[in-house]
Amino acid sequence: MPFLNRRGPVPEPPGERYPVLMETALDAQNATARKGLGARFRPGMLEVCANPGCGSGWLHLWRSRSAPIFEGGWSCSAECTAARMLAAVSRELDGRVSAGEGHRHRIPLGLLMLRQGWITQDQLRMALKAQRAAGTGRLGYWLVRQRAVSEPTVTRALSLQWSCPVLSLEKHDAVGLAAVMPRLFVEAFGALPLRLAAGRLMYLGFEANLDPVLALAIERMTGLRVESGLVQESLFRPAHARMLEARFPSVELVEAVSGAAAAHALARAVERARPIASRLAGVHNCLWLRMWMRPQHGPLPESGSVLDLVCSIGGQ
Ligand SMILES: [Zn+2]
Repeated sequence: MPFLNRRGPVPEPPGERYPVLMETALDAQNATARKGLGARFRPGMLEVCANPGCGSGWLHLWRSRSAPIFEGGWSCSAECTAARMLAAVSRELDGRVSAGEGHRHRIPLGLLMLRQGWITQDQLRMALKAQRAAGTGRLGYWLVRQRAVSEPTVTRALSLQWSCPVLSLEKHDAVGLAAVMPRLFVEAFGALPLRLAAGRLMYLGFEANLDPVLALAIERMTGLRVESGLVQESLFRPAHARMLEARFPSVELVEAVSGAAAAHALARAVERARPIASRLAGVHNCLWLRMWMRPQHGPLPESGSVLDLVCSIGGQ
């Protein structure tokens, strides 16, 4: 890891199961970019500034800075951090369109259940009529209410619709998984982190609609593989409420008028906190910056060792 190189060899504690901080795809991208710097990069001795447009040359060797580290690279000055942050913000904002394109066409729930033979035409018609009259509630809710099907059957149909598993709440680790993302995302996107498997796979539950954009952002940020699935509605709600009571990493919310303003605010936060690692990931209409203040020894950061910053961009 770059920050370990600069600070001299730090032996891993015996029996350590995880690297100090797992490299993610973002860090790999950064390492590839640095290869292009050729002779200026001297691994293990002196790190070159990760800003490709850095104008300070070898002057930075006299600057006494070992942090901040952003996306696996060190920047020699606040200006270089700002330039790198601006590039990262542009990358995330440009990537939003392609992330949305992953949306697949899904067969309507009523039609799916009809084809499975789980409901009749009449039951579907009745439920749609009740839904229209009430002007609220999902079709599944009305089908259950009219006793056409059971709640687990609706969840099963939703899982077929999304081609995803139905997840159980067994071994739900609300306390341990609160470090996976800001509380704001759990609340706003209706996500329920459920449990870790083998230290590298996280099960993420949703009530009725999966959120592939959020799942991808978590994968990129944590290096964990995320398996999304649906949780039966009546079980989801109390578990989600319990999850929201857990202790989450501290978060700062920032509103910016443009991508450039967001980059400016995020770069300032990185310069101020001087994290030993930090990463940026776009999630819907916000940017999520996570800063590690201490090395991470497990699959997730310890409570209090990371700071999150969520930046929304005005008018988007
Ligand atoms: Zn520089």
